[in-house]
Amino acid sequence: ELYNQIQENKGNIRVFCRCRPLKKEEIAAGSATVVDFDVAKYGDLGILTGSSLKKTFKFDRVYTPKDNQVDVFADASPLVTSVLDGYNVCIFAYGQTGTGKTFTMEGTEENRGVNYRTLELLFQIAKERSETFMYSISVSVLEVYNEQIRDLLATSPTSKKLEIKQSAEGSHHVPGLVEARLDNIKEVWSVLQAGSNARAVGSNNVNEHSSRSHCMLCIMVRAKNLMNGECTKSKLWLVDLAGSERLAKTDAQGERLKEAQNINKSLSALGDVIHALATKSSHIPYRNSKLTHLLQDSLGGDSKTLMFVQISPSEQDLSETLSSLNFATRVR
Ligand code: ADP
Ligand code: MG
Repeated sequence: ELYNQIQENKGNIRVFCRCRPLKKEEIAAGSATVVDFDVAKYGDLGILTGSSLKKTFKFDRVYTPKDNQVDVFADASPLVTSVLDGYNVCIFAYGQTGTGKTFTMEGTEENRGVNYRTLELLFQIAKERSETFMYSISVSVLEVYNEQIRDLLATSPTSKKLEIKQSAEGSHHVPGLVEARLDNIKEVWSVLQAGSNARAVGSNNVNEHSSRSHCMLCIMVRAKNLMNGECTKSKLWLVDLAGSERLAKTDAQGERLKEAQNINKSLSALGDVIHALATKSSHIPYRNSKLTHLLQDSLGGDSKTLMFVQISPSEQDLSETLSSLNFATRVR
């Protein structure tokens, strides 16, 4: 099995790189492609300028613009399955705005992404195992914006600030956060859409707002082994991160500056945590951001982590692409 092969030599963190297709406007403008997928020639992924090779990168998987949602989920699905065996898992999408993070995680009605496919697979396997296990599946959807947590499934606005608490047995949770119990796959898409739609509330530009906040779906799986009565609880985080692009100097003031600093802080905190885990450091700095603090139970220990680094093929995006690929390489 692919997952086990990777696990043997790479530990519990893997990185998949996905490149979106050129957009119509980019094709119309005659944009050159700077990404080369010739595995034999370049290892896994080469970045070119003009006709010269600039740098090569190696990832656990590389998806070309031709690979679809099914191809991508096929490689992520073993991690999802392991949640039903009691593991905590974290899957997140990192990259510049417009590179397909939301497309990979959320997808569209016709091209559903990792979030929906994950729940679909969980329900399918739960059903297959129903003679030996009783599973209960529930979800929370939240957003982290400027280091504040917002509940995207809350039906009425609460003035109470949501905070992360640690329970007696050591796990982390957010008291007061809505946890929606899901009984079958039919309910899933509408719950996910409700969460997604709630991001728009209170912001004058939905797309801009969502590129500056982290959108986080937490799937909680409770399992009871009907043979021996043993109960387990595991957590799967699916995260659509804020855009990793650097702020233009001209925008570096006021609210925009504060947003940018918070994004920068939380993405570096995430990089630092994964790097510390990968290098087996004795101190893992989870507390440096809300993002890493929330993910704490699903990053490290025996939990499994998958990062999608999303990139654009266009030469206009070259410097952001290199910066994302470097980030993804550094965390290993
Ligand atoms: P991000 O969330 O990183 O800002 P989006 O997911 O919104 O980026 O993607 C930007 C645009 O590119 C969207 O219109 C999306 O549908 C399209 N897109 C992204 N990735 C792909 C892909 N692999 N195949 C087809 N279209 C894609
Ligand atoms: Mg997005």
